[in-house]
Amino acid sequence: MSSYFIVNGRVIDPASRTDGKLSVLVRGGKIEQVTPSRKAPEGAQVLDASGCVVAPGFIDMHVHLRDPGQEYKEDIESGTRAAAAGGLATVCCMPNTDPVIDCASVAEYVLEKAGRLGATGVIPIGSITRGGKGEAMSDIGDLASAGACAISDDGRSVMNSGLMRRAMEYATAFGLPVISHCEDAALAGGAVMNEGLVSTELGLQGMPAAAEELMVARDIMLAELTGARLHIAHASTMGTVELIRRAKRRGIRVTAEVTPHHLTLTDEAVSDFDPNTKVNPPLRTEADRRALIKALADGTIDAIATDHAPHNIIDKEMGFEEAAFGISGLETMLPLALALVAERKLTLKRLVEALSAAPARILGLKGKGSLKPGSDADITIFDPSAAWTVDASRFASRGKNTPFNGLRVMGRARWTIVRGRIAFAG
Ligand SMILES: [Zn+2]
Repeated sequence: MSSYFIVNGRVIDPASRTDGKLSVLVRGGKIEQVTPSRKAPEGAQVLDASGCVVAPGFIDMHVHLRDPGQEYKEDIESGTRAAAAGGLATVCCMPNTDPVIDCASVAEYVLEKAGRLGATGVIPIGSITRGGKGEAMSDIGDLASAGACAISDDGRSVMNSGLMRRAMEYATAFGLPVISHCEDAALAGGAVMNEGLVSTELGLQGMPAAAEELMVARDIMLAELTGARLHIAHASTMGTVELIRRAKRRGIRVTAEVTPHHLTLTDEAVSDFDPNTKVNPPLRTEADRRALIKALADGTIDAIATDHAPHNIIDKEMGFEEAAFGISGLETMLPLALALVAERKLTLKRLVEALSAAPARILGLKGKGSLKPGSDADITIFDPSAAWTVDASRFASRGKNTPFNGLRVMGRARWTIVRGRIAFAG
């Protein structure tokens, strides 16, 4: 296994309160040393990170890899190549595959294929209910022992509160957090975008913010009742932010994530009926967007996650109302997040934390999310000032569905190192 000595970069490791011009020595797949020395030890290959930030390998805790079952949209190989190109060293994949990751054998399939073909690390998330149908609980202990890092029925809420309570109790017994996609199905109805002025103008059926907030409130109450660790997926409204803020103040074990697209776009983007702006939860208002940015900056929202949802062109190239929900997000995550740093709404340190230490802490990932000696040598080296133009046709992901195609952006991964091996070099 190769040794690397990374020099001349700005090393930012929030977990060890490190920020400075330092060198990082990687050996045997682990971080061996973070040192002011610039003299490479014998046998180590030098990576010159001039102008770059050297950060703990980024972790995306919310990714749809579509494998097994919809490999024409993405598979573990293409999805992890896209992740590595986007600067991610680890992705956690949601269980709404076909079959659903609701038992050990499907989780084991994901881990086995990822071990063989994955450019990045992959950690499966198990489903809360069998088949993700919301009716009967999955075998959560079985999923935990197979290596699932959390449970979630992402894509929909578990509408049965009694079942959700029991799932929280089981998950707690096995040390797993419960990731909640918060959407009251009846209230959301068949809506295709945010309910508000823009949906009225466009004549499209809107999803009210309350459809999300009701479930956030319910799940916070259930977390309080059970003592479970609750993680709110893709927070999208001001009300959600307020509910999380209050719950945290009261000591309830709740964490949250936000997507780059909810930090960047509003429902105004839907105005030209581009199906690539159709996401769930929907793009909200400018006031919501601002509240999300503020909450990310002050730590009310802990992590950034892409909700990478690759689709084939046939699932998107149709009318807005019929098109599938979701954005192919892995390869635009970093520049979209860095734009907030350029606008001084977020510090670089907080951004790095939201992409490394925070997801590692939420999911209890040992040896991840930090550059402390002894940690896995997962490292993201990125140039925050590299300018480029998003070209979806060049995505490593099979999903070319992005509303950011043609956008001029800044910030790009130079190297993504996964367990001491270079997974991507840009
Ligand atoms: Zn979701």
